Amino acid sequence: MYSIFHNYCLKSLNTFGIDAKADHFIEAKSVADLKEAIKWIKDNQFQWFVLGGGSNVLFKGDYKGVVVKPAILGIDDVYEDEQYVSLKVGAGVDWDNLVEYAVNRGLGGIENLSLIPGSVGASPIQNIGAYGVEAKDTIERVEGIYIDTLKSFMLANDGCQFGYRDSIFKNELKGKVVVTHVIFRLSKTPKYAIHYGNLEEELKQFGQLNIANIRKAVIAIRNSKLPDPKELGNAGSFFKNPVVDITLVEDLQKKFDKVPYYPVSNELVKLPAGWLIEQCGWKGKRIGKVGVHKMQALVLVNYEGCSGDDVIYLAHSIRESVMEKFNVTLEMEVNII
Ligand SMILES: Cc1cc2nc3c(=O)[nH]c(=O)nc-3n(C[C@H](O)[C@H](O)[C@H](O)COP(=O)(O)OP(=O)(O)OC[C@H]3O[C@@H](n4cnc5c(N)ncnc54)[C@H](O)[C@@H]3O)c2cc1C
Repeated sequence: MYSIFHNYCLKSLNTFGIDAKADHFIEAKSVADLKEAIKWIKDNQFQWFVLGGGSNVLFKGDYKGVVVKPAILGIDDVYEDEQYVSLKVGAGVDWDNLVEYAVNRGLGGIENLSLIPGSVGASPIQNIGAYGVEAKDTIERVEGIYIDTLKSFMLANDGCQFGYRDSIFKNELKGKVVVTHVIFRLSKTPKYAIHYGNLEEELKQFGQLNIANIRKAVIAIRNSKLPDPKELGNAGSFFKNPVVDITLVEDLQKKFDKVPYYPVSNELVKLPAGWLIEQCGWKGKRIGKVGVHKMQALVLVNYEGCSGDDVIYLAHSIRESVMEKFNVTLEMEVNII
């Protein structure tokens, strides 16, 4: 049996700390509960939304419908050979608990993704990534249920259409499925990815090169750069890094001293959205109850009891400045509900 709550406060369930309420809130601890809950929602023709850890959502206001939280737990070994172990993980497992568990067992592949907030079920949705590694590098398959038919599905990695902060779950399957489990293939003989940002430099403080120390270094860097949502509400990077034509960078290089970019293909490059925002003078700026973080221009923060609309107003103002100065469109990474 699933639990259902009415007029439910979501403030502690979203890392922005927006004080929104849902008409109904359901926590489903098993696939059977989830199916039963969806059936109830459909029978009553409620609008509804799946919430994981609430670290990539912004509630515009109260939610007139049902918020469903898959709270399916469990980390189980499903396959092992000389080189790999496959783990089947419940959607409700906290992402960083999984990383810690894998690192403690000496299983490599996700250590660079340490301390990313949120649930395992959401990890394939936007293909979470950090420090040169993405969830897609270790996801073997994703399991869940189709909302329409309540039938189960299993999608192998190559069917998930993973891209930069993107997947089939944000496109073709958006609103059509709920992820119940993710199967990760982790390595007993890890390959280290340390040449991203200042990770290699930070690692020197921790001694030997191993996944436990990579995790420590990533945590140290993240703690020094990113605001802790428990202290300052935020949803991490608010915008995606825009992918643009290389000719645009060549034009920008005539006007700006140093334009940072990462090649994506022969014609396309990725521009750091944080740099674009900083160049427009937004870093550290505060407008009433919201602002742009002083250390990281990509992170919008809730200083004190802001509304979702306050954040959206700031985000639109930033987008307009970046468009005016660079002719680049910033796309939001955060899901607006
Ligand atoms: C401080 C901070 C740092 C961050 N750093 C990073 C980073 O380095 N890299 C990165 O990629 N992201 C980062 N994020 C963003 C966020 O942590 C990830 O997007 C994370 O995967 C969101 O997980 P969640 O469980 O909180 O999802 P939610 O925010 O609850 O939901 C996000 C989306 O996924 C959908 N969803 C959630 N669970 C399911 C499910 N089981 N089935 C179907 N749909 C589902 C929701 O409907 C929603 O559309 C950061 C966020 C914060 C606050």
